[in-house]
Amino acid sequence: MTFLAYRVAETEQGMAASWQEQTVDQLPEGEVLIAVEYSSINYKDALSASGNKGVTREYPHTPGIDVAGTVLESASDDFAAGDAVVVFGYDLGMNTAGGYGQQVRVPANWVLRRPTALPAAQAMSWGTAGFTAALSVQKLERNGIKPENGPVVVTGATGGVGSVAVALLAKLGYDVLAVSGKPEQQDFLKQLGATGFLSRDDILATKGKAMAKPLYQAAVDTVGGDLVSGLIPQIKPEGALTTCGMIAGIKVEASVFPFILRGVSLLGVDSVEIPLVDKQQVLDKVADQWQLAQLEQMTTEISRSQLADVLAKVLSGQGVGRYRLNLNAE
Ligand code: NDP
Repeated sequence: MTFLAYRVAETEQGMAASWQEQTVDQLPEGEVLIAVEYSSINYKDALSASGNKGVTREYPHTPGIDVAGTVLESASDDFAAGDAVVVFGYDLGMNTAGGYGQQVRVPANWVLRRPTALPAAQAMSWGTAGFTAALSVQKLERNGIKPENGPVVVTGATGGVGSVAVALLAKLGYDVLAVSGKPEQQDFLKQLGATGFLSRDDILATKGKAMAKPLYQAAVDTVGGDLVSGLIPQIKPEGALTTCGMIAGIKVEASVFPFILRGVSLLGVDSVEIPLVDKQQVLDKVADQWQLAQLEQMTTEISRSQLADVLAKVLSGQGVGRYRLNLNAE
Protein backbone atom coordinates (compact mmCIF):
# COMPACT_ATOMS: atom_id res chain seq x y z
CA MET A 1 0.00 0.00 0.00
CA THR A 2 1.36 3.39 -0.94
CA PHE A 3 0.67 6.77 0.63
CA LEU A 4 1.48 10.36 -0.27
CA ALA A 5 4.25 12.40 1.30
CA TYR A 6 5.57 15.91 0.65
CA ARG A 7 9.20 15.22 -0.27
CA VAL A 8 11.70 18.05 -0.13
CA ALA A 9 14.93 17.49 -2.06
CA GLU A 10 18.13 19.38 -2.85
CA THR A 11 18.66 19.93 -6.57
CA GLU A 12 21.23 21.88 -8.57
CA GLN A 13 18.62 24.63 -8.95
CA GLY A 14 17.94 24.79 -5.20
CA MET A 15 15.31 23.10 -3.04
CA ALA A 16 12.42 21.34 -4.79
CA ALA A 17 9.33 19.79 -3.22
CA SER A 18 6.45 17.65 -4.46
CA TRP A 19 3.88 15.13 -3.24
CA GLN A 20 5.17 11.63 -4.02
CA GLU A 21 4.02 8.07 -3.47
CA GLN A 22 5.90 6.29 -0.69
CA THR A 23 5.75 2.86 0.91
CA VAL A 24 5.93 1.89 4.57
CA ASP A 25 9.41 0.36 4.01
CA GLN A 26 10.68 3.84 3.22
CA LEU A 27 9.72 5.08 6.69
CA PRO A 28 12.21 4.94 9.56
CA GLU A 29 12.05 2.09 12.06
CA GLY A 30 9.68 2.56 15.00
CA GLU A 31 7.09 0.66 17.03
CA VAL A 32 4.01 2.65 16.07
CA LEU A 33 2.71 3.16 12.52
CA ILE A 34 0.19 6.02 12.38
CA ALA A 35 -2.30 7.10 9.71
CA VAL A 36 -1.91 10.88 9.74
CA GLU A 37 -5.19 12.75 9.42
CA TYR A 38 -3.95 16.26 10.16
CA SER A 39 -0.64 18.03 10.62
CA SER A 40 0.09 21.74 11.09
CA ILE A 41 2.39 24.47 9.84
CA ASN A 42 4.95 25.94 12.22
CA TYR A 43 7.93 28.21 11.60
CA LYS A 44 10.25 25.21 12.09
CA ASP A 45 8.41 23.33 9.31
CA ALA A 46 8.98 26.30 7.02
CA LEU A 47 12.70 26.19 7.87
CA SER A 48 12.90 22.44 7.22
CA ALA A 49 11.04 22.74 3.90
CA SER A 50 13.36 25.55 2.80
CA GLY A 51 16.53 23.46 3.29
CA ASN A 52 17.67 24.88 6.65
CA LYS A 53 20.45 22.52 7.82
CA GLY A 54 20.07 23.66 11.42
CA VAL A 55 16.69 21.89 11.41
CA THR A 56 17.12 19.11 8.82
CA ARG A 57 20.56 17.75 8.01
CA GLU A 58 19.72 15.39 5.16
CA TYR A 59 17.38 15.50 2.18
CA PRO A 60 15.21 14.14 0.58
CA HIS A 61 13.03 14.60 3.62
CA THR A 62 9.38 14.77 4.68
CA PRO A 63 8.85 17.73 7.08
CA GLY A 64 5.99 18.08 9.58
CA ILE A 65 6.74 18.36 13.33
CA ASP A 66 3.08 17.68 14.24
CA VAL A 67 0.85 14.65 13.75
CA ALA A 68 -2.70 13.81 14.76
CA GLY A 69 -4.17 10.54 13.61
CA THR A 70 -4.94 6.92 14.37
CA VAL A 71 -2.66 3.97 15.05
CA LEU A 72 -2.50 1.49 12.13
CA GLU A 73 -0.05 -1.01 13.65
CA SER A 74 1.79 -1.20 16.94
CA ALA A 75 4.64 -3.38 18.17
CA SER A 76 4.28 -1.76 21.60
CA ASP A 77 1.88 -3.02 24.29
CA ASP A 78 1.04 0.61 25.06
CA PHE A 79 -0.83 1.15 21.79
CA ALA A 80 -3.18 -0.82 19.54
CA ALA A 81 -4.60 -0.31 16.06
CA GLY A 82 -7.40 2.23 16.20
CA ASP A 83 -6.01 4.32 19.08
CA ALA A 84 -6.37 8.09 18.64
CA VAL A 85 -2.96 9.72 19.01
CA VAL A 86 -0.86 12.87 18.69
CA VAL A 87 2.90 13.22 18.19
CA PHE A 88 4.81 16.47 18.38
CA GLY A 89 8.44 17.37 18.87
CA TYR A 90 11.41 15.09 19.56
CA ASP A 91 12.92 14.40 16.13
CA LEU A 92 9.63 14.22 14.22
CA GLY A 93 9.81 16.25 11.00
CA MET A 94 13.40 17.26 11.67
CA ASN A 95 15.51 14.23 10.70
CA THR A 96 12.66 11.70 11.05
CA ALA A 97 10.02 11.67 8.27
CA GLY A 98 7.20 13.82 9.62
CA GLY A 99 3.54 14.72 9.40
CA TYR A 100 3.53 15.96 5.80
CA GLY A 101 3.13 12.28 4.92
CA GLN A 102 -0.10 10.31 5.19
CA GLN A 103 1.74 7.78 7.39
CA VAL A 104 4.52 8.10 9.98
CA ARG A 105 6.37 5.43 11.98
CA VAL A 106 7.80 6.52 15.33
CA PRO A 107 9.07 5.16 18.66
CA ALA A 108 6.26 4.40 21.13
CA ASN A 109 7.79 6.78 23.66
CA TRP A 110 7.02 9.74 21.36
CA VAL A 111 3.29 8.96 21.15
CA LEU A 112 0.57 10.77 23.15
CA ARG A 113 -2.97 9.56 23.71
CA ARG A 114 -5.40 11.97 22.13
CA PRO A 115 -8.26 12.73 24.54
CA THR A 116 -11.77 12.00 23.20
CA ALA A 117 -12.61 15.69 23.55
CA LEU A 118 -9.81 16.58 21.10
CA PRO A 119 -10.59 15.57 17.50
CA ALA A 120 -7.54 15.27 15.21
CA ALA A 121 -8.39 18.52 13.41
CA GLN A 122 -8.67 20.46 16.65
CA ALA A 123 -5.45 18.95 18.02
CA MET A 124 -3.64 20.30 14.97
CA SER A 125 -5.19 23.75 15.32
CA TRP A 126 -3.19 23.80 18.52
CA GLY A 127 -0.15 21.95 17.12
CA THR A 128 3.37 22.62 18.37
CA ALA A 129 2.82 26.39 18.22
CA GLY A 130 -0.30 26.20 20.37
CA PHE A 131 1.18 23.71 22.82
CA THR A 132 4.18 26.05 23.17
CA ALA A 133 1.84 28.94 23.91
CA ALA A 134 0.12 26.78 26.55
CA LEU A 135 3.49 25.79 28.07
CA SER A 136 4.49 29.47 28.18
CA VAL A 137 1.31 30.51 29.98
CA GLN A 138 1.65 27.56 32.35
CA LYS A 139 5.22 28.64 33.17
CA LEU A 140 4.11 32.21 33.90
CA GLU A 141 1.34 30.97 36.19
CA ARG A 142 3.72 28.63 38.02
CA ASN A 143 5.89 31.72 38.51
CA GLY A 144 3.11 33.60 40.29
CA ILE A 145 1.63 35.65 37.45
CA LYS A 146 -2.04 36.49 38.10
CA PRO A 147 -4.71 38.31 36.06
CA GLU A 148 -5.23 40.99 38.73
CA ASN A 149 -1.55 42.02 38.77
CA GLY A 150 -1.34 43.88 35.48
CA PRO A 151 -1.06 43.46 31.72
CA VAL A 152 0.79 40.71 29.89
CA VAL A 153 2.54 41.47 26.59
CA VAL A 154 2.62 38.95 23.71
CA THR A 155 5.15 39.47 20.88
CA GLY A 156 4.72 38.03 17.39
CA ALA A 157 1.05 38.22 18.29
CA THR A 158 -0.41 37.27 14.92
CA GLY A 159 1.93 34.26 14.55
CA GLY A 160 1.17 30.67 15.54
CA VAL A 161 2.53 30.75 19.10
CA GLY A 162 1.56 34.40 19.60
CA SER A 163 -2.06 34.16 18.48
CA VAL A 164 -2.78 31.15 20.70
CA ALA A 165 -1.03 32.87 23.63
CA VAL A 166 -3.23 35.96 23.15
CA ALA A 167 -6.41 33.86 23.07
CA LEU A 168 -5.43 31.68 26.03
CA LEU A 169 -4.35 34.57 28.25
CA ALA A 170 -7.57 36.44 27.41
CA LYS A 171 -9.63 33.35 28.26
CA LEU A 172 -7.87 33.16 31.63
CA GLY A 173 -8.81 36.78 32.39
CA TYR A 174 -5.56 38.60 31.61
CA ASP A 175 -5.30 42.08 30.13
CA VAL A 176 -3.35 41.21 26.95
CA LEU A 177 -1.25 43.72 25.00
CA ALA A 178 -0.39 42.46 21.52
CA VAL A 179 2.87 43.42 19.81
CA SER A 180 2.59 42.92 16.09
CA GLY A 181 4.25 44.07 12.89
CA LYS A 182 0.84 43.80 11.18
CA PRO A 183 -1.28 46.81 12.24
CA GLU A 184 -3.93 45.74 9.72
CA GLN A 185 -4.59 42.65 11.88
CA GLN A 186 -5.82 44.57 14.95
CA ASP A 187 -9.42 43.40 14.46
CA PHE A 188 -8.22 39.78 14.33
CA LEU A 189 -6.23 40.28 17.54
CA LYS A 190 -9.17 42.02 19.21
CA GLN A 191 -11.40 39.05 18.36
CA LEU A 192 -8.85 36.78 20.05
CA GLY A 193 -9.14 38.90 23.19
CA ALA A 194 -6.30 41.45 22.99
CA THR A 195 -7.20 44.60 24.91
CA GLY A 196 -4.39 46.82 23.61
CA PHE A 197 -1.77 47.07 20.87
CA LEU A 198 1.89 48.02 20.83
CA SER A 199 4.20 48.41 17.87
CA ARG A 200 7.57 46.67 17.80
CA ASP A 201 9.14 50.17 18.09
CA ASP A 202 7.25 50.80 21.35
CA ILE A 203 9.18 47.90 22.88
CA LEU A 204 12.47 48.52 21.07
CA ALA A 205 12.63 52.04 22.56
CA THR A 206 13.90 50.61 25.87
CA LYS A 207 16.41 48.20 24.34
CA GLY A 208 19.84 48.80 25.88
CA LYS A 209 18.44 50.57 28.97
CA ALA A 210 19.27 48.99 32.32
CA MET A 211 15.86 49.90 33.75
CA ALA A 212 12.74 51.62 32.47
CA LYS A 213 9.28 52.39 33.80
CA PRO A 214 7.81 49.02 34.92
CA LEU A 215 4.66 48.79 32.81
CA TYR A 216 3.98 45.09 32.32
CA GLN A 217 3.48 42.24 34.76
CA ALA A 218 4.73 39.65 32.29
CA ALA A 219 5.40 38.83 28.66
CA VAL A 220 5.15 35.82 26.37
CA ASP A 221 7.90 36.45 23.86
CA THR A 222 7.80 34.34 20.70
CA VAL A 223 10.41 36.13 18.58
CA GLY A 224 13.62 36.58 20.61
CA GLY A 225 16.36 39.15 20.01
CA ASP A 226 15.85 42.89 20.48
CA LEU A 227 12.21 42.67 21.59
CA VAL A 228 13.30 40.62 24.62
CA SER A 229 16.01 43.20 25.30
CA GLY A 230 13.38 45.94 25.17
CA LEU A 231 10.91 44.08 27.39
CA ILE A 232 13.19 43.10 30.26
CA PRO A 233 13.63 46.67 31.63
CA GLN A 234 9.84 47.22 31.51
CA ILE A 235 8.71 44.21 33.58
CA LYS A 236 7.20 44.99 36.99
CA PRO A 237 8.75 43.74 40.25
CA GLU A 238 8.40 39.94 40.65
CA GLY A 239 7.16 39.72 37.06
CA ALA A 240 8.39 37.27 34.43
CA LEU A 241 8.82 36.76 30.72
CA THR A 242 8.99 33.57 28.72
CA THR A 243 11.13 33.14 25.64
CA CYS A 244 10.68 30.37 23.07
CA GLY A 245 11.67 31.65 19.63
CA MET A 246 14.42 33.25 17.62
CA ILE A 247 12.72 34.54 14.49
CA ALA A 248 13.89 38.12 15.32
CA GLY A 249 17.32 37.15 16.62
CA ILE A 250 19.23 34.91 18.99
CA LYS A 251 21.06 37.54 21.03
CA VAL A 252 19.57 39.34 24.01
CA GLU A 253 21.18 42.41 25.58
CA ALA A 254 20.19 43.02 29.18
CA SER A 255 21.42 44.52 32.43
CA VAL A 256 21.24 42.34 35.54
CA PHE A 257 19.39 45.18 37.34
CA PRO A 258 15.81 44.07 36.49
CA PHE A 259 16.69 40.58 37.77
CA ILE A 260 18.43 41.62 40.98
CA LEU A 261 16.52 44.81 41.85
CA ARG A 262 13.02 43.81 40.70
CA GLY A 263 13.18 40.03 40.98
CA VAL A 264 12.23 39.64 37.30
CA SER A 265 12.49 36.09 35.90
CA LEU A 266 13.38 35.10 32.36
CA LEU A 267 11.84 31.67 31.69
CA GLY A 268 12.85 29.44 28.77
CA VAL A 269 10.18 27.31 27.10
CA ASP A 270 10.95 24.08 25.25
CA SER A 271 8.17 22.00 23.72
CA VAL A 272 10.43 19.58 21.83
CA GLU A 273 12.49 17.52 24.28
CA ILE A 274 10.37 17.80 27.45
CA PRO A 275 9.29 14.46 28.97
CA LEU A 276 6.32 12.73 27.35
CA VAL A 277 4.37 13.00 30.61
CA ASP A 278 4.61 16.80 30.48
CA LYS A 279 3.43 16.83 26.86
CA GLN A 280 0.48 14.59 27.80
CA GLN A 281 -0.44 16.92 30.65
CA VAL A 282 -0.58 19.92 28.29
CA LEU A 283 -2.57 17.94 25.71
CA ASP A 284 -5.10 16.90 28.36
CA LYS A 285 -5.36 20.48 29.61
CA VAL A 286 -6.05 22.04 26.19
CA ALA A 287 -8.69 19.38 25.59
CA ASP A 288 -10.39 20.28 28.84
CA GLN A 289 -10.16 23.44 30.97
CA TRP A 290 -8.04 25.32 28.42
CA GLN A 291 -10.33 24.71 25.42
CA LEU A 292 -10.42 27.83 23.26
CA ALA A 293 -13.70 28.99 21.77
CA GLN A 294 -11.82 31.03 19.10
CA LEU A 295 -9.61 28.15 17.90
CA GLU A 296 -11.59 27.31 14.75
CA GLN A 297 -11.94 30.95 13.79
CA MET A 298 -8.18 31.55 14.12
CA THR A 299 -7.26 28.44 12.11
CA THR A 300 -7.05 28.12 8.33
CA GLU A 301 -7.42 24.53 7.14
CA ILE A 302 -5.40 23.84 4.00
CA SER A 303 -5.21 20.97 1.51
CA ARG A 304 -2.08 19.23 0.19
CA SER A 305 -1.90 21.48 -2.88
CA GLN A 306 -1.87 24.64 -0.70
CA LEU A 307 1.03 23.53 1.50
CA ALA A 308 3.91 25.07 -0.50
CA ASP A 309 2.31 28.54 -0.55
CA VAL A 310 1.54 28.50 3.17
CA LEU A 311 5.07 27.35 4.04
CA ALA A 312 6.46 30.32 2.06
CA LYS A 313 4.09 32.70 3.83
CA VAL A 314 5.10 31.45 7.28
CA LEU A 315 8.81 31.55 6.38
CA SER A 316 8.50 35.24 5.51
CA GLY A 317 6.73 36.08 8.82
CA GLN A 318 3.46 36.82 6.99
CA GLY A 319 1.35 34.01 8.48
CA VAL A 320 -1.72 34.93 10.54
CA GLY A 321 -3.07 32.58 13.20
CA ARG A 322 -2.76 28.82 12.87
CA TYR A 323 -2.67 26.64 9.74
CA ARG A 324 -3.60 22.97 9.82
CA LEU A 325 -3.01 20.55 6.95
CA ASN A 326 -5.70 18.01 6.01
CA LEU A 327 -3.64 15.12 4.61
CA ASN A 328 -6.69 13.64 2.89
CA ALA A 329 -7.66 16.80 1.01
CA GLU A 330 -6.07 17.18 -2.40
P1 NDP B 1 5.06 32.13 13.01
O1 NDP B 1 5.82 32.36 11.76
O2 NDP B 1 3.70 31.56 12.94
O3 NDP B 1 4.93 33.50 13.81
C1 NDP B 1 6.02 34.32 14.07
C2 NDP B 1 5.54 35.78 14.17
O4 NDP B 1 6.64 36.57 14.64
C3 NDP B 1 5.16 36.41 12.84
O5 NDP B 1 3.86 36.11 12.42
C4 NDP B 1 5.32 37.89 13.17
O6 NDP B 1 4.19 38.31 13.93
C5 NDP B 1 6.52 37.89 14.13
N1 NDP B 1 7.79 38.21 13.44
C6 NDP B 1 8.24 37.71 12.26
N2 NDP B 1 9.43 38.25 11.95
C7 NDP B 1 9.74 39.10 12.96
C8 NDP B 1 10.84 39.97 13.22
N3 NDP B 1 11.88 40.04 12.39
N4 NDP B 1 10.81 40.73 14.35
C9 NDP B 1 9.77 40.66 15.20
N5 NDP B 1 8.70 39.86 15.01
C10 NDP B 1 8.69 39.08 13.91
O7 NDP B 1 6.01 31.25 13.93
P2 NDP B 1 5.60 30.32 15.17
O8 NDP B 1 4.61 31.05 15.98
O9 NDP B 1 5.36 28.95 14.70
O10 NDP B 1 6.99 30.30 15.97
C11 NDP B 1 7.48 31.47 16.59
C12 NDP B 1 8.88 31.21 17.12
O11 NDP B 1 8.81 30.27 18.18
C13 NDP B 1 9.84 30.63 16.09
O12 NDP B 1 11.13 31.17 16.27
C14 NDP B 1 9.83 29.15 16.42
O13 NDP B 1 11.00 28.50 16.01
C15 NDP B 1 9.69 29.20 17.93
N6 NDP B 1 9.11 28.00 18.52
C16 NDP B 1 9.77 27.43 19.57
C17 NDP B 1 9.27 26.33 20.20
C18 NDP B 1 9.94 25.78 21.39
O14 NDP B 1 9.66 24.64 21.77
N7 NDP B 1 10.83 26.53 22.02
C19 NDP B 1 8.07 25.66 19.69
C20 NDP B 1 7.37 26.38 18.64
C21 NDP B 1 7.92 27.51 18.07
P3 NDP B 1 3.68 39.82 13.94
O15 NDP B 1 3.66 40.25 12.50
O16 NDP B 1 2.32 39.76 14.56
O17 NDP B 1 4.67 40.63 14.73
